[in-house]
Amino acid sequence: MDFAQHTIDIASRNVTEGGRPFATVIVKDGEIVAESPNLVAQTHDPTAHAEILAIRQACTKLGTEHLTGATIYVLAQPCPMCLGSLYYCSPDEVVFLTTRDAYEPHYVDDRKYFELNTFYDEFAKPWNERRLPMRYEPRDAAVDVYQLWQERNGGERRVAGAPTTTRPA
Ligand SMILES: [Zn+2]
Repeated sequence: MDFAQHTIDIASRNVTEGGRPFATVIVKDGEIVAESPNLVAQTHDPTAHAEILAIRQACTKLGTEHLTGATIYVLAQPCPMCLGSLYYCSPDEVVFLTTRDAYEPHYVDDRKYFELNTFYDEFAKPWNERRLPMRYEPRDAAVDVYQLWQERNGGERRVAGAPTTTRPA
């Protein structure tokens, strides 16, 4: 099966149904484990990007938060939100089928605090220089929650079973 073409077909069908032009297909061991178009227009959920929805489906289905061994096909270079979710689920590979430069003449999704072409630069700034207003309100009791987590996690700071670069999986 041509997984890239399948990704394009899902996105194209979504557009004809009033949705946005994005789709994600997650493949493991040669089989599709999850697929989704972008459903922001249909659900009014600004986080309903195709990557997020497909990752949720795949992880729920496979009973794991780690998509090691998976290849994730996305129609376009992912936004920072989805890039973050792709890092979190640790797939073997992400395949994108178009760049932002290529689709920008036809589609933009600028918001109050970012433009797509400056979004990554915005994320790279220190928190107090970003356009999104943020306020640090320090509370010692907030750190206590993490101490409680560590105590209940056998004194270990790390989440068990996560594939990391600092120790064997
Ligand atoms: Zn996204």
